[in-house]
Amino acid sequence: MKTETEHVEDTIQLLVKLVQNKCINPPGNELKSIQVIEKYLKDRNVPCQVLKSAPNRSNLISEIKGQNSGSSLMFGPSHVDVVPIGNKSAWEVDPFGGIIKDEHIWGRGTLDMLFIVATQVQAFACLFQEGFKPKGDLKLCIVADEEAGGIFGTEWLMKHQPDFMSVDYALSEAGGIPIAPGRLLLGIGEKGAAWKRVSFKGTPTHGSMPYKSDNAVIKAAIAAERLNNYTPPINLDYIKLMANSLGLSKITQLMLSHRIFLPIVLKMAHKRNPVMARLLHALSRMTISPNIIHGGTKTNVVAGEAYLDVDIRILPNQDDEFVVKHLRKAMGEMGKEAIIERPPDQPGFFTSEGTASDPNSEIVPFMCKAVSEVYPNAQFVPLIVAGATDLRYLRERGTQAYGFSLFDPETPLNTMATLPHGPNERISLKTVEYSLMAYYNLAKEFLNQ
Ligand SMILES: [Zn+2]
Repeated sequence: MKTETEHVEDTIQLLVKLVQNKCINPPGNELKSIQVIEKYLKDRNVPCQVLKSAPNRSNLISEIKGQNSGSSLMFGPSHVDVVPIGNKSAWEVDPFGGIIKDEHIWGRGTLDMLFIVATQVQAFACLFQEGFKPKGDLKLCIVADEEAGGIFGTEWLMKHQPDFMSVDYALSEAGGIPIAPGRLLLGIGEKGAAWKRVSFKGTPTHGSMPYKSDNAVIKAAIAAERLNNYTPPINLDYIKLMANSLGLSKITQLMLSHRIFLPIVLKMAHKRNPVMARLLHALSRMTISPNIIHGGTKTNVVAGEAYLDVDIRILPNQDDEFVVKHLRKAMGEMGKEAIIERPPDQPGFFTSEGTASDPNSEIVPFMCKAVSEVYPNAQFVPLIVAGATDLRYLRERGTQAYGFSLFDPETPLNTMATLPHGPNERISLKTVEYSLMAYYNLAKEFLNQ
């Protein structure tokens, strides 16, 4: 039997290999990392299945069958693909070197989310090797393609392995981050994506005589400004859920839970902690960000056509009708002539609904227990994340799905906002050790109840 330290060392070695495999999506080529995990499990006599979803792209599943008498739990879906490195000169180390320095493993994907892949694989292998006999099933699900919407990963598995993917509880990225003493963020849901293309028509005439011309570029520019300045309906439910769990003073709680004070709170927060301000803003409403403007054909022709591509993120229970209604309202009289449609498919494009799981489900007290060695009497602060993760696919089918891992208490709060997809992404060795312990303890206790 290996010692605990050896298990942690094996996990770190696995994580280093996953970083070095460089599964940048697109194109992903996740087969490399899936094969590394397959070998890692086979070396430990843990059976698993590799499922090919496209050339060089696959997913891996494994299961410890329960005795059909309790809730089932999935480690994952956890993704092995990563995003490009961006500006290489901003990195202090080779982003794919798998370098360990200053008590951290550095590299693209370490935080999002290869450390979770490695710790879940190791926790699953440990439980299997011990002959763990859970009441409900324990499943392991490692996927491709999360960073481009999950078509060849989780979405593919939902279609091709519906029974395996049907599970009561699932654990993946974006949770377990210390936000205040003894308080950890628990990802309970996420906003949806409802990207739109907003197009305008004009009348192409000679650009040398533009007086009172009907110019589509001007319309798009004005529309972009109006969309940017618009305040959609405010919903404080998700902020309140956080504020109540944060142990804040009554005054701060009051300020955070009344819409008239919200603009003041946002302004104040932006001065002290811009990341927190952006998060609170995103949690309180549908956000509208016109990010591409395109129009016209020639400098000497008044533009006959122009469009805006708008990144729109919706809260749970906001639908397409809601989105279109508010886009038109935001643009005023121009909203009447604007053509609003789904943008053409492009890498990374998807639409999704906002989803949320129960912040007080039966697994939450077990999470508190599983982290108690590092955080005695921990409380979880429910969070709706502004971006999208694969967990939405499972929530849509009724799974209670959470962002859960266990970060080192030294982790700065803005880590999750700046490092994933940014330069110098890294994860502390302690976080690897703690997350491994948390997954192992949680599965053991929860599935044995
Ligand atoms: Zn991720």
